[in-house]
Amino acid sequence: SYVGIHSTGFRDFLLKDELVRAITDCGFEHPSEVQQVTIPQAILGNDVLCQAKSGLGKTAVFVLSTLQQMDEKPDIGVTTILVMCHTRELAYQIKNEYNRFAKFLPEVKVGVFYGGTPVAKDVETLSNKETHPHIIVGTPGRINALVRDKHLRLAGLKHFVLDECDKMLDAPDMRNDVQSVFRATPSHKQVMMFSATLSKEIRAICKKFMQNPLEIYVDDEKKLTLHGLQQYYIKLDEKEKNRKLNDLLDTLEFNQVIIFVRSTIRCTELDKLLKECNFPSTAVHSGIDQTERIKRYKDFKQFQTRICVATDVFGRGIDVERINVAINYDMPEAADAYLHRVGRAGRFGTKGLSISFVSNEDDEKTLKAIEGRFEVELPEFPEEGIDSSTY
Ligand code: ADP
Ligand code: MG
Repeated sequence: SYVGIHSTGFRDFLLKDELVRAITDCGFEHPSEVQQVTIPQAILGNDVLCQAKSGLGKTAVFVLSTLQQMDEKPDIGVTTILVMCHTRELAYQIKNEYNRFAKFLPEVKVGVFYGGTPVAKDVETLSNKETHPHIIVGTPGRINALVRDKHLRLAGLKHFVLDECDKMLDAPDMRNDVQSVFRATPSHKQVMMFSATLSKEIRAICKKFMQNPLEIYVDDEKKLTLHGLQQYYIKLDEKEKNRKLNDLLDTLEFNQVIIFVRSTIRCTELDKLLKECNFPSTAVHSGIDQTERIKRYKDFKQFQTRICVATDVFGRGIDVERINVAINYDMPEAADAYLHRVGRAGRFGTKGLSISFVSNEDDEKTLKAIEGRFEVELPEFPEEGIDSSTY
């Protein structure tokens, strides 16, 4: 429960001056609820299992609390902080968050390792003491390969963090990789895990990696829905989707919009179609070459493109400030996935709008499941549209 928290500012956490300055430079004025509750415990080195709403700053919890605990003069060539997450773009994003907050800690080196890129480059980075990162962010497959082949040694590790932990521990191959990497770390270390969704079953699995963790849960699932986010559905035939999307993109006042589809093929096709209709669109899915994928992520994040068609590789964790509209062109298969997807709009308590296309019975079932689980009402999107000042 969040009752009884009176902390007012980041200063109350008694963080290093270098971090306080970086926080100020980031424009953060007040810590969010999850930050107020979790940071004071996390900086003491306690294990943390944390479920909190999308977009309210879970990243800063582990980035700040691990940086806070770092030695002033970190040993050269030793990795003390490892963060793993489920997609490459998210790893890249988290690495940038470390760089942002470590801005006034010039000795700290941060590295990011993920699949789809030449492993030789990672090996080179790790083999040179001068470039060996103190902090590593990566995806489980590549990190495990580097550990297995003895390029990455984790004997000096002090902090082991999993972001989107339920996603990683749910998928058998990722879970195996996470476990192998975990086994290569010293038994005495801080373990922290984060997600917006943590079922009872997954919580139990998470806790197997931890010792007396501080457990922060939004117990009531209905509290997971975002206040500033308006959610609607549109019932239509599959063949009407393109036409409808076109209309929406013409009439909605979006800063940036993310459109979710269910497959890489549909992603490529829809992106192509939008471009043909002169919409400034880009596509991100697992079939795209990795360097290009990161480039597209960067362009989108930096507002170079305004429309992104994506598969679920962008369904979690991705933080693009200006997204105010999320469209489920294809309904996700599960309520969890829905919550993560629409959470891409309305970051850090800003306003947002989500519209989900419902075109068959399965979609309707998913819609009902979402409404039931999160106790949210998804009305039909009104024919006349809605007032743009509300999203
Ligand atoms: P989560 O992982 O919980 O979904 P993120 O860590 O991605 O959320 O944060 C969402 C956005 O909110 C980011 O753009 C981040 O920079 C911003 N943010 C986080 N904490 C604060 C804060 N205390 N004040 C202002 N903005 C914040
Ligand atoms: Mg996150």
